[in-house]
Amino acid sequence: MTKFETDNLEKVRKAVNVCTMCGFCKSVCPSFKEVGWDTDSSRGRITLIYGLLNGDIEADPSVIKSIYTCTTCADCVRRCPSKVDVVDIIEIARADLVKNGHMLDKHESMCDRVVEFGNPFGETASIQEAVGVERKKAKIGYYVGCTAAYRSKEISEATISVLKKLNTDFTVVDEICCGSVLQRVGYDQDYITTMFEKNVNAIKELGVETVVLSCAGCYRMFKVEYPKYIDVPFEVLHITEYLARQDLKLKPMDKIKATYHDPCHLGRHCGLYDAPREIIAKIPGMEFKEMEYTREKSHCCGGGGGVRSAFPDESLGIASTRLEEAEGMDMIITTCPFCVNNLLAGRKDEKIEVVDLIELVDKLL
Ligand code: SF4
Ligand code: SF4
Repeated sequence: MTKFETDNLEKVRKAVNVCTMCGFCKSVCPSFKEVGWDTDSSRGRITLIYGLLNGDIEADPSVIKSIYTCTTCADCVRRCPSKVDVVDIIEIARADLVKNGHMLDKHESMCDRVVEFGNPFGETASIQEAVGVERKKAKIGYYVGCTAAYRSKEISEATISVLKKLNTDFTVVDEICCGSVLQRVGYDQDYITTMFEKNVNAIKELGVETVVLSCAGCYRMFKVEYPKYIDVPFEVLHITEYLARQDLKLKPMDKIKATYHDPCHLGRHCGLYDAPREIIAKIPGMEFKEMEYTREKSHCCGGGGGVRSAFPDESLGIASTRLEEAEGMDMIITTCPFCVNNLLAGRKDEKIEVVDLIELVDKLL
């Protein structure tokens, strides 16, 4: 058996030692619900990872698949009575798999494009060209994020439009990918840290004091991951936090039954639950109802952790489950381009609308 190189065995051993196999994590794990095998549940994964790092089992395709079908939603971390940080263990294992030469083809080509072009889509237009905003010095900087800049353009267009309607003096920074795609799939952290530095330096250069983000994944990076490695000398706000501070006067939306889906990166990973709801509460006439699984207990859309690109069937199956939980609603509002895309792709009933809150605010402002 090929020797598997790792420096993380002790950390994983500690997690396995305190795991009582109670199964609380399994009861909430969206990939287990979709795949149906214990190998693709939280506790199954940490057991496999221990075997892998200890040299007891090989990194064969089934083991690799189990480690990469996790959406990193962190619902298991919330549920675990032994406080096992399952996501941390899974991301450690992914980094070890990559170091040992096991990278999924889909992830490898995505990472190659980030390294070559600064974004996972291989786009060559600069961020300012992509969104049509001139680069200048300003105290507020909009960090657009690759998905909203190059694919889900309606989100960057709405964000820019709202900032303009509020007479905000803002700039768009010379950004590259925030590093989330690379970090989620286990790419080399030293390289990712150089990306963090490039983004922070570009933001500092424009005299930005507050960075506003419309993508939940990018927000988590700036709020939680960047400070683990480098100094972040400016305020970081999700666009909903920025808007919650404004005196918004929104037009009514009568006869619309809507609910809110908490993106895992914004909710469980960053603890941001109130700002989007405060903005929704300002929409006159809207009939708002929470889903059964909401806020800290919100279920995942299936779009994160590199699952959508490598295992689209599992990802869309998880989206379908989340959509079923919104039955009876006309609209699901969320605050992340990945959640919008995955929920839209998982729809069986096209009558239910899925929108990013910023698009709604733009229409109603
Ligand atoms: S992070 Fe989510 S998908 Fe991954 S093991 Fe935990 S509950 Fe399952
Ligand atoms: S909830 Fe925690 S202790 Fe229980 S099986 Fe899952 S990882 Fe182990």
